[in-house]
Amino acid sequence: MIGRKRKYEDPHIRSFHELLSGHNPVLYKKEDLLAYDCDGFTIHKHLPKAVVFPENTREVASIVRYCHDHNLPFLARGAGTGLSGGAIPINGEVIISLVRMKRLLEVDLKNRRAIVEPGYVNLKLTQSIEDKGYYYAPDPSSQYCCTIGGNVAENAGGAHCLKYGVTTNHILGMEVVLPNGDIVEIGKAGILDEPGYDLLGLMTGSEGTLGIVTKITVRILKHPEAKQTVLAYFDKVSDASHTVSDIISEGIVPAALEMMDRIAMEGVEAAAFPIGHLLDAEAVLLIEVDGISAGMDQQIERILTVCRKHHVREVKDEMVGEPKNRLWCHGCHLTRLPRTRWSDPADKASGRAFNDSKNQRNIRATNRKYFSRR
Ligand SMILES: Cc1cc2nc3c(=O)[nH]c(=O)nc-3n(C[C@H](O)[C@H](O)[C@H](O)COP(=O)(O)OP(=O)(O)OC[C@H]3O[C@@H](n4cnc5c(N)ncnc54)[C@H](O)[C@@H]3O)c2cc1C
Repeated sequence: MIGRKRKYEDPHIRSFHELLSGHNPVLYKKEDLLAYDCDGFTIHKHLPKAVVFPENTREVASIVRYCHDHNLPFLARGAGTGLSGGAIPINGEVIISLVRMKRLLEVDLKNRRAIVEPGYVNLKLTQSIEDKGYYYAPDPSSQYCCTIGGNVAENAGGAHCLKYGVTTNHILGMEVVLPNGDIVEIGKAGILDEPGYDLLGLMTGSEGTLGIVTKITVRILKHPEAKQTVLAYFDKVSDASHTVSDIISEGIVPAALEMMDRIAMEGVEAAAFPIGHLLDAEAVLLIEVDGISAGMDQQIERILTVCRKHHVREVKDEMVGEPKNRLWCHGCHLTRLPRTRWSDPADKASGRAFNDSKNQRNIRATNRKYFSRR
């Protein structure tokens, strides 16, 4: 093609090529588009019109402006692990993929913040700063591949959201391309409590419907001085559920609190990260406390007292080495359970329909939950 302009039948595809600078910046052939017909929600599928790969904010803005001016529907996509179908091009949208905007732009340890591009993978942030004693708290189970842009759009949370909150609690600022292609900054230089509307809060969790996030300033935290983890096994799921509520009403806020039923434990033991669960117990609580070392043993003892009140069968509190590292590495999707439904063992409101349908289809479904602040 040297010296000759490539011909594209579709004038929009030609324009996208002109607007983007990177190598192979537009996918438009059916065989290439097939990989983008859904995200982690695989029930509905639809081919996009094209997938474009901008490399910077200016290119995102020019594509968005072009789509706006030509009445072409578009949507943003990070790693495509979303489970709510937000990145499915149900109307044949142009997919604006952010995966080439994946740089860690700045780490400011003094002010405990970092600036990333939207395609930066969640876990990489912690990996980049942990040797200095810092980490990024929001830890969805998909953190080894999902992007921080996608986390912002979905307000993602993880096992540690009970104490540390979800993504919205860790966002200090962002740059956004609005649906007409204008570029705006929200949250000036990470100053908390800016006067006016909480636009950061509005954007976080808006699933890409209000604009495309092109730069994010996040809060980073110092690793706590000490951490202890307890695994408490119960013969009834309801006993485990009541234990969770009582731990919190005792005024103890664990760093992480997660419940798994027997089938989930069997899954963990059969998969890549076995940790020696008791497979004849009906439920296990994974409880992690962190903070300063002084008083931590007493805190664990108070938790164990609550567990005993609810007939705990066995407690493992001496996890060391590899099994300990594997504890939170299940790599599957969790249900985030709000505080008002903690002691409802089967989470009846959503669980009953789920269980009925699972029984009809003879599916072995598992129950695994982490507990959120609200
Ligand atoms: C195995 C597995 C485990 C999971 N565990 C959890 C979990 O523990 N907790 C949890 O909360 N979620 C979990 N998820 C869901 C998913 O990983 C999260 O929602 C994650 O935040 C999505 O990130 P992504 O980069 O894959 O985004 P995508 O799936 O690509 O996009 C998700 C949504 O965000 C929008 N979007 C993406 N990037 C941008 C951007 N830069 N600007 C504006 N909008 C954008 C998209 O349009 C779409 O609506 C899990 C998913 C899987 C497959």
